[in-house]
Amino acid sequence: LTERLQGAMKKLRRKGKITEADVKEMMREIRLALLEADVNFKVVKDFTKRVSDRAVGEEVLETLTSAQQIVKIVDEELTATLGGEAVPLNKSPKIPTIVMMSGLQGAGKTTFVGKLAGQLKKNENARPLLIAGDVYRPAAIEQLKVIGEQLDIPVFEMGTEVSPVEIVRQGLELAAQQKNDYVFIDTAGRLHIDDVLMNELKEIKALADPDEILLVVDAMTGQDAVNVAESFNEQLDITGVVVTKLDGDTRGGAALSIRAVTGKPIKFAGTGEKLTDLEVFHPDRMSSRILGMGDLLTLIEKAQADFDEQKAEELAMKMKENSFDFNDFIEQLDQVMGMGPIEDLLKMIPGMSEVPGLDQFKVDPKDVARKRAIVMSMTPAERENPDLLNPSRRRRIAAGSGNSVVEVNRMIKQFNESKKMMQQMTNGNMPAGMDQMFG
Ligand code: GDP
Ligand code: MG
Repeated sequence: LTERLQGAMKKLRRKGKITEADVKEMMREIRLALLEADVNFKVVKDFTKRVSDRAVGEEVLETLTSAQQIVKIVDEELTATLGGEAVPLNKSPKIPTIVMMSGLQGAGKTTFVGKLAGQLKKNENARPLLIAGDVYRPAAIEQLKVIGEQLDIPVFEMGTEVSPVEIVRQGLELAAQQKNDYVFIDTAGRLHIDDVLMNELKEIKALADPDEILLVVDAMTGQDAVNVAESFNEQLDITGVVVTKLDGDTRGGAALSIRAVTGKPIKFAGTGEKLTDLEVFHPDRMSSRILGMGDLLTLIEKAQADFDEQKAEELAMKMKENSFDFNDFIEQLDQVMGMGPIEDLLKMIPGMSEVPGLDQFKVDPKDVARKRAIVMSMTPAERENPDLLNPSRRRRIAAGSGNSVVEVNRMIKQFNESKKMMQQMTNGNMPAGMDQMFG
């Protein structure tokens, strides 16, 4: 995905304003990228439409280049599509909170039960009971018992001869007696969806009236995840989703499809085989992962936070009035310093590291300090009116700031160049060389 976007952004970066055609082209790349990340094609179609509607309508922010802005819109829409905010586990007002599992065989249901029960025990001092409802594979009961022993959490089981519904009924009775605060019902899966499995799950649901019915989906499932999620949701009206195996190299497009198709929140993410490998699902992080450009998004956030928009506007006004002075120059330097090394910032943009001439944007803190010292040695009148700086004033400033006249001259020359460049930019033209860097 990153490669595709790099190509698309490279093209966009050479341009100024975003046109509808630019958005279209970028959207084509994003559509392909999402499909590659295994997002369902219908979901992709809806999604890209929403993004392009927004991108075409949106005003161009001062701080962001157009390509960045589209990426930002894509990120925001992805996050929204993934649910916006993290959604916590449903809890019953009176104990026990009943959590029922569902999902295909091997999705990670049993492992998840152990992970979440262990986390609740550790964080809330909870006293969960685990019910072994998968009677089709003897190994499944054993697996849950081993997990229970590891966590020191009791497991209720009745072997493989009793029906799952009966096991759940007796398990719930036991939980009521023991005043367990959480009950986890582990259930059987199948390799594919079938009616016998669904009917069994429906019976368990009717009996237990769970507070939470979680569908566990393997993130590697790809396109098929949509069908799985759709049918489980139709049959059981699930309350939430767990996406497992996000520790693999999958982009996690399945998560986006599932959320879009079922409308049910993804609550947890499994990130490994260990019982501690469980995370609350954060839509914004998942969005970055799907986009595969965490660095780029960090850059955008940084640029937004550090750049005071009002100052930028004031500066633009001054440029127009041709009154850019040394006070503004210093302010500009400080702003750049506040954002960290600008070279690092630029390198975060995909494809940017290849752009020739990046070196000229190196900012050396010592150099900034020197420039600052020179400006500080000017009188307020000189700072506001650089034309006053005749040779004798320059000599005085050099001596006062501990620099050579050559250095003072170089700095004034740089100031004048910077001023010229800023003027060209505010008149809508990018100065030579800069057009490659900024949209
Ligand atoms: P169930 O059939 O749905 O109960 O699935 P299991 O809980 O038995 O898990 C199936 C396999 O997936 C086991 O080998 C687990 O260790 C593994 N597994 C479960 N969750 C994760 C995860 O988040 N990451 C990884 N890497 N493996 C997982
Ligand atoms: Mg299992």
